[in-house]
Amino acid sequence: MSGEGPSTRAVHADAGVEPGVDVAPPLHLSTTYRRSGPDDELVYRRDDSRTVERLEAVLGDLEGGTAVAFASGMAAITATIRALAPARISLPPATYHGTRLLAELAELDGHLRVVDPDELGEGDVRWLETPANPTCEVADIAAISADARARGVRVVVDSTFATPVLQQPLALGADVVVHATTKAINGHSDALGGVAVSNDPQILDALRRRRVLEGAVMGAFDAWLTLRGVRTLPLRLERQCATAAALVEALEPHPVRRWYSPLPGTAWSEIARRQMSAGGSVFSFEFDEAATAAACTAAFELITVATSLGGVETLAEHRLLVDEHAPPGLIRLSVGIEDVDDLRADLLGAVEAALRA
Ligand code: PLP
Repeated sequence: MSGEGPSTRAVHADAGVEPGVDVAPPLHLSTTYRRSGPDDELVYRRDDSRTVERLEAVLGDLEGGTAVAFASGMAAITATIRALAPARISLPPATYHGTRLLAELAELDGHLRVVDPDELGEGDVRWLETPANPTCEVADIAAISADARARGVRVVVDSTFATPVLQQPLALGADVVVHATTKAINGHSDALGGVAVSNDPQILDALRRRRVLEGAVMGAFDAWLTLRGVRTLPLRLERQCATAAALVEALEPHPVRRWYSPLPGTAWSEIARRQMSAGGSVFSFEFDEAATAAACTAAFELITVATSLGGVETLAEHRLLVDEHAPPGLIRLSVGIEDVDDLRADLLGAVEAALRA
């Protein structure tokens, strides 16, 4: 559906998957399909599901490639690493802790070595996560991909924080994009999922083969919910990005360090402005002490203290509780769709209470 905008494509890009009279997508729960001959398209749900295919049609269209959905973000990340089978992988300094632990596990199992980017060579993988969880640091996808391509290195971008609406890694030269659809793509904190998107037929074949044989398929109901969620992704993000920017600004007079991709004065803000169409719905802020961050999360009234991000409800998390490498006083805020004045009052009230404590 090239030529149409992302909001139109989020609503209509799956229209060709299942001809029929339903306006809203049906939910197919059957694990097996009636056989009629050797050329049947549908045989067994671990191999194929129309509900998952519809979601893949939308995500592939939005991302400018072909999408393969998985049971979770981590399942998509695992399948991508195993499909590319690199001898070496490099990770950015700020990476979602699950990805870092997974790579360390693969290293322990003898599958690969985790190295610095300048040690990578032919067939290796340079993993990017941009913006990064939780510090929102940004990597220059176009520059890194051009350099990697010249050395035969594959680039994978975890674009979960940006979603396909805010940045397009494949168009910038990446080989694979992965998302935890659990986050903003579904957007309602009620379905796990992941997706890998690529334009390379060999990579896509390897991803599908991994999914069928290792069995990390996306559940039908999760796919159906995620399809329902993605319809409003561009609309939700418009509000969430504007509110996030307003909250980051509101924190300016307070003695906290702010982490947000387009924030002027960081090493990456210029890249963020060039590479992303808006700053995203997640930012972090950091107190000097872990105890102040703990007091701040305890003082929230409207904002929910919970892990995860990208949902319609604003969530705050003191990252030290889940990631020992996180700056001790850092709180990550995933901005929802509530009214900005209510969020600003709750955020500033909790920050001021914590600083007084
Ligand atoms: N990638 C990023 C950037 C994440 O933030 C997360 C989860 O928080 C994941 C991947 C993993 O996704 P999931 O929890 O769906 O496995």
